[in-house]
Amino acid sequence: MNSYAAPDEIGSPEVSATAAALLLLGRGSDPDSERGVDCPGELPAASDPNLVARAWAAKRALGDRVFVLGHHYQRDEVIQFADVTGDSFKLARDAAARPEADYIVFCGVHFMAESADILTSSQQQVILPDLGAGCSMADMARGNQVLDAWDVLGEAGVADATIPVTYMNSAADIKGFTGEHGGVICTSSNAERALRWAFEQGEKVLFLPDEHLGRNTAVRQLGLSLEDCVLYNPLKPNGGLTREQLRAAKMILWRGHCSVHGRFTPAQVDKVRERVPGVRVIVHPECTHQVVTKADLVGSTEYIIRTIEAAPAGSSWAIGTELNLVRRLANEHPDKQITFLESTVCYCATMNRIDLPHLVHSLESLVQGQVINRITVDESVAQFARLALDRMLALPEMVSSNRD
Ligand code: SF4
Repeated sequence: MNSYAAPDEIGSPEVSATAAALLLLGRGSDPDSERGVDCPGELPAASDPNLVARAWAAKRALGDRVFVLGHHYQRDEVIQFADVTGDSFKLARDAAARPEADYIVFCGVHFMAESADILTSSQQQVILPDLGAGCSMADMARGNQVLDAWDVLGEAGVADATIPVTYMNSAADIKGFTGEHGGVICTSSNAERALRWAFEQGEKVLFLPDEHLGRNTAVRQLGLSLEDCVLYNPLKPNGGLTREQLRAAKMILWRGHCSVHGRFTPAQVDKVRERVPGVRVIVHPECTHQVVTKADLVGSTEYIIRTIEAAPAGSSWAIGTELNLVRRLANEHPDKQITFLESTVCYCATMNRIDLPHLVHSLESLVQGQVINRITVDESVAQFARLALDRMLALPEMVSSNRD
């Protein structure tokens, strides 16, 4: 699927066409995106039968100097080379815990590599095998849009009472904005704790950039009503909201979503219940409120993995998250019936850009002493982003293994 933003989210048909072309060609540049520019040099051919052997050989040659991280949504052909797998935050912390590794090869997307660069030492270099691997959700909140929104809140007289809470799935400059304005980063497992903390610091929350995680957490876990939440649309003047609406709201949700989890619908939940007797439906909190309300269980990728591992043999599950993970879980648990909640293919297209040719190219370049596709975050941004991340780490009783 094309997991990039719908035309109204991108802004113009011209830009939409550019984004589509980039996805098709896997080349080029998109300066308006959190994704970067094209990769230098020649990629090995995808048809090369020696790619697996080449990747192992390069990894062996680099030894402890390289540490390969693999996000749960990565392809199997890439995951097999990961020294550690996990969600974005766990991987960034794993990288920071390996100071002997000069090179961190992050098989994930751009914002994850940025977080790793923020949390690792200045001696370590973070590499994203394909600079085109971005995140459509992260792209839905741009730095200038967020600054404009803050001005709108200021004009409504509510900025001083508002605490930004920003999901890990965001660009480094948005994390920096959050730290600079007294806010905190959250993950899909500690969003409740982050919101509770934020409401102790202020009266309102500006939640970026995933409206669904913000709404689901506020309503399901904090007991707020849907009416307490307003949706700030960065493409409309003043976010499409009146000053009265901003003053009355407790949760100001940024209009952004995950294009993968946004595909799941309540009708799919109904259908799978009809089709599979006794099925338990487990979904990610990036799904819409309607889907989450119909599901039996809701949680991050790590939570989904743990739940399936602990489930009794013979139990039936329908899972609403990215397909690579669901397929891997089905293969690893043949004693359980595992169904994908969607009826059609639903990969994260940008995650899937990291493939074996890109990984081989990155590793072999390192063997030759050439660092390609390095991701760096300017220290002026990183210092505030680190502040917001540190506030998250200081949240009370943080569950460390239940995140997106
Ligand atoms: S699955 Fe969704 S949130 Fe995660 S990287 Fe892909 S588009 Fe972004």
